[in-house]
Amino acid sequence: MRILHPRFILTPDKILTDQAVAFDSHIQAIGPKEELVHRFPDAALFEEPEALVMPGFANPHVHLEFSANKATLSYGDFIPWLYSVIEHREDLLPRCDQECLNTALRSIVASGTTAIGAVSSYGEDIEACAKSPLKVQLFNEIIGSNPAAADVMYASFLERFHQCKKLESDHFKAAVAVHSPYSVHYVLAKKAIEIARRENALVSTHFMESRAEREWLDQGTGEFAHFFKKLLGQTRPVNDPQEFLDLFREVKTLFVHMVWANEQELKKVASMEATIVHCPISNRLLGNGVLDLDRIAPIPYTLATDGLSSNYTLSLYEELKAALFVHPDKEATTFAKELLIRSTKGGYEALNFEGGVVQKGAPADLQIVAIPQDLKDPEDIYLHLILHTQKPKAVYIQGVAHA
Ligand SMILES: [Zn+2]
Repeated sequence: MRILHPRFILTPDKILTDQAVAFDSHIQAIGPKEELVHRFPDAALFEEPEALVMPGFANPHVHLEFSANKATLSYGDFIPWLYSVIEHREDLLPRCDQECLNTALRSIVASGTTAIGAVSSYGEDIEACAKSPLKVQLFNEIIGSNPAAADVMYASFLERFHQCKKLESDHFKAAVAVHSPYSVHYVLAKKAIEIARRENALVSTHFMESRAEREWLDQGTGEFAHFFKKLLGQTRPVNDPQEFLDLFREVKTLFVHMVWANEQELKKVASMEATIVHCPISNRLLGNGVLDLDRIAPIPYTLATDGLSSNYTLSLYEELKAALFVHPDKEATTFAKELLIRSTKGGYEALNFEGGVVQKGAPADLQIVAIPQDLKDPEDIYLHLILHTQKPKAVYIQGVAHA
């Protein structure tokens, strides 16, 4: 048992002052230090007068397999980026071996994240994720717009999903990712989602990330028309966006990006058990624009880094800074609080894990973060936390220190 006595505790909705938290794998009590020391005389006491305790972050969308990329891929515009992924995939994937995956996972923990949604296309990251201390939803991805290849793609997906199932534990769950409405044939998407429904697995899909996707799915035109004709000899989209969305009615889904979603689609998603995953850095670097947060209300949203295939970091602190600056119409102090709550409590809820809060009975997935010493108004802490933190001082998952 440990007792932490920081300057503040962010629950995260509330700021507690002069309170301590006692925990083993779970939070046992929150209260005045003297009371907790008396109640748990054998606990180790840690005084942190210049730091705060808050929940770890959840990063619900990351592609670990591309963690070897720094400057190989072409940023700036979505379709040229996609061509560069196809061109360099065979080189980038083997460059991210188990050591590279473990380094990426360790960097995620060190940056204060305690739960992730890892999208896996090839399955090479399954074992590393299962062994990591992180809480992981492992999204086994299905892709394939060509009906002739559907059986092969489905078999590969099923094999990976079952491999994951065997490794399931309290902190590692087998989940399903349907790549996108432009890249997965309707029948294939339906079959994968049916598995998720039967197994009660979480689902994730990229949806309306780019202008090119919007044009292709609406009219069969634009940059994707050229792309599909050239690469696959395909002249028509394989999904109607509305019909594609209807497939997700009976499963809990993370809709990733949604920057180019229209009113009708947002209305449909709002009627489902769904969360929007907002990746502002990835959207910026691939030229996809900015998600309109007012337009997507009342659908809950959370933040994610996407992979190192479209980001320079897997740190939520960087993502939150970017979010602050790409939404200049939002008042900074209240928006910082909203972002922090969505990235902890909101992200945990989206990932179906208990936690993301500092309250009695919750898993002790916590970070200790230094507070700027000249902080005057405690209410400003959310904003300054985002502005001034590169890394937390310590990270606990299930009460065990990992960074
Ligand atoms: Zn993605």
